[in-house]
Amino acid sequence: MAATDEYEATIGLEVHVQLKTRTKLYCGCANEFGAPPNTLTCPVCLGLPGSLPVINGEALRLGFRAARAVKCTIPDVVSFDRKNYFYPDLPKGFQISQHFGALGFDGEVEYWSDEGFGVIAVERVHLEEDTAKAVHAEAYVRPGETLLDFNRAGIPLMEVVSRPVIESATQARRYIVALRQTLVEAGVSDCDLEKGAFRIDTNISVKRKDRPTLGEQVEIKNLNSLKAMEAALEYEFERQLEILKGGGEVKRVTLHYDDATGETVPTRIKELRADYRYFGEPDLPPVRVPSSYIDDLGEGIGPGPGARMRELLERYGATVAEAEMLAFTRGYYDFLKAAAAAYGAGPRAVVNWLVGDVTRELKERGEQLSDTPLKPGALAALLRLLDAGDVNVPAAREVLAELMSSGGEPAAILEAKGLAQISDAADIEKLVREAAAANPKAVADIKSGKEKARRALVGYVMKKTAGRANPKVVNELIAKVLAGP
Ligand code: ZN
Ligand code: MN
Repeated sequence: MAATDEYEATIGLEVHVQLKTRTKLYCGCANEFGAPPNTLTCPVCLGLPGSLPVINGEALRLGFRAARAVKCTIPDVVSFDRKNYFYPDLPKGFQISQHFGALGFDGEVEYWSDEGFGVIAVERVHLEEDTAKAVHAEAYVRPGETLLDFNRAGIPLMEVVSRPVIESATQARRYIVALRQTLVEAGVSDCDLEKGAFRIDTNISVKRKDRPTLGEQVEIKNLNSLKAMEAALEYEFERQLEILKGGGEVKRVTLHYDDATGETVPTRIKELRADYRYFGEPDLPPVRVPSSYIDDLGEGIGPGPGARMRELLERYGATVAEAEMLAFTRGYYDFLKAAAAAYGAGPRAVVNWLVGDVTRELKERGEQLSDTPLKPGALAALLRLLDAGDVNVPAAREVLAELMSSGGEPAAILEAKGLAQISDAADIEKLVREAAAANPKAVADIKSGKEKARRALVGYVMKKTAGRANPKVVNELIAKVLAGP
């Protein structure tokens, strides 16, 4: 989606994130995914009359930590409110959420792209209980029926609300990628979309650029992947654009995105937004937040993924795709820094080997970098051998594989495996002459300007040396031999 010449989109995102506590938000039931339905419940999370909530301190701690990680200001007092609505996944008739207060306000998330860096403002971060999960897509559910699984009810759910400042589906994706990485690194959630631990709702309105006020907002729920979010926003932009161009009016609705058809469809839920009748939760007293507690919370929260991306793009010469791999693959960033420091001759070669051959080896083996005995110093030493012409690239790959299986020193492996590069001109010249004698057609082709024919001669020499000949020397000698008498 891009804005057209005349029209533009304004997008806001609300992200619900399950916090990884041991127990639920207002009771002691386990916070777990995948247990048999309705086995992790008690009167509190079932919403039975007379049961009373008790706030989970660890959920508060993780929520505050998240608020800190997205650079929010944290208030002195935190209070909870009742959001009243009736829906089967919430049988007590209200959700204990935060409305008048929140865990944090006015933060921001820095994102990155090929065009540079940007910032999306975060309006608030608040805490609420998750609801029961409606189940209809399982074998044990009869057609037309919906069952409820209360294992999810009461799991601590944090909501991160962006300001409506996002201009395109692409920018929305970049914000989500950066937000998700920030929260994972802060250790507050695994943010696993497939397990429903990270759920995206969005609102989008389209207006003519010359209109000062925002158009009517349309909400889209049920976005369970980044791809779905982008597709839904693209679809909805076009839909609203068509209506506006035709002189019509966009109505305020809540839509579901249907993954199968790629269309947005109105939800069956009545629009209840205007009538939640919020009031302070009488069963939970407000919590005073000492400033010393907040100071300690920040511990271990670094400058965030944006800062690391900046370093990789600007100081290490990585592309965005490379930098994301280096910044977010476990163990890569520290390894890169150590290897680049040990190598000293510019980080670009280290980047190439790490995102290239090292990654390919790891994929083939199904391993993490830390599972292998490869040391940053060893990779740096291998790169220096390459620079010195002591090893060629195919042989260096073999050495790397050995380093990743058994560790050791590159020079010693080179020696032991007989992989050292042959750069001796006399030895190579002899082989080039043999190659020329064996390939008269290739020689004639090269002389008539067909450079590709060189491959036959290079291939001959490489075969005779088991790939160990220095290709630069081989090429120089081919030129010399063909020019000669
Ligand atoms: Zn419970
Ligand atoms: Mn919510």
